[in-house]
Amino acid sequence: MARITEEELERIKEEVSLVRLVEAKGIALEKKGSDYHGCCPFHDDKTPSLVVTPSKNLFHCFGCGAAGSVIDWVMKIEGVSVRHALEILKADYLPSVSSFNATGKAKPTRRNTSVKLPSLVASEDHQALLQKVVDYYHQCLKESPEAIEYLEKRGINNPELIEKFKLGYANRTLGYRLPQKNRAEGAKVRGQLQEIGILRESGHEHFNGSLVVPVINDGSVREVYGRKIKRELRKGTPKHLYLPGEHQGVWNSEALKDNCEIILCESLIDAMTFWVHGFRNVTTSYGTNGFTDEILQSLVANNVGKVLIAYDRDKAGDEAAHAISKRLA
Ligand SMILES: [Zn+2]
Repeated sequence: MARITEEELERIKEEVSLVRLVEAKGIALEKKGSDYHGCCPFHDDKTPSLVVTPSKNLFHCFGCGAAGSVIDWVMKIEGVSVRHALEILKADYLPSVSSFNATGKAKPTRRNTSVKLPSLVASEDHQALLQKVVDYYHQCLKESPEAIEYLEKRGINNPELIEKFKLGYANRTLGYRLPQKNRAEGAKVRGQLQEIGILRESGHEHFNGSLVVPVINDGSVREVYGRKIKRELRKGTPKHLYLPGEHQGVWNSEALKDNCEIILCESLIDAMTFWVHGFRNVTTSYGTNGFTDEILQSLVANNVGKVLIAYDRDKAGDEAAHAISKRLA
């Protein structure tokens, strides 16, 4: 993590709304005078003993004595170090503030730091849970200037594309949507998200810092692709991520139903590039080695007469294109 400057630290403490952070955890707050009262999540609280004071942006519990700033709140509720708490708060909050400043607009104060969506709770239906995560990432993308900037740079900042294919951005804030991990329901939903592959065993978000592209077929999320948007990554950090397990699904599958000629790309970014330029009869494999039987079957089942293989003109691309043309013959 880049060092957090003294100025950033002050801004986090002053500008990130503690009231919003508390509410994002599903804690109902009631306004009393200039303070807010709610049930403390850090002890078994029957009578609301948690007091949040917006003017100071501090909390204090009269039951267990827990108290502090937004940083203390995140450390305690997420069970993370001060460094990690700052990272979460900075990633969630500071980038958008600087972009506001860049446009010369007034600096928003005490801005809502979390997308307003119901908290993510455990569900036996993993698909339903995965869809909620995809929806959450989709909201995050639309509120994250750094993600939009990345789409712009790749030439795919197209509102229709973003909506239709539910492009998202994993900005490390998913944890805010989950019940605390030291509660039964918090542990349960985290366990399920780990089984799906959204959280790693370490508890980190698998797609942290990535543009997120779900592959949705008939309303089901079949695969999720993540592409890191930061240029400098720690050595060994993969740029391309997928959910664990075999690749599934066919991106833009409806195009196969409507067209007898289909462009096949080697990556989702390439396919989306064709799409925004008006070539809607396009789909993709998951990399040069990711042309799955499911994609093949789908082309056959839809009577696609001609497949234009638009792989990269490099050795891997040429070899893969040759192999695929044999399978299609
Ligand atoms: Zn307490």
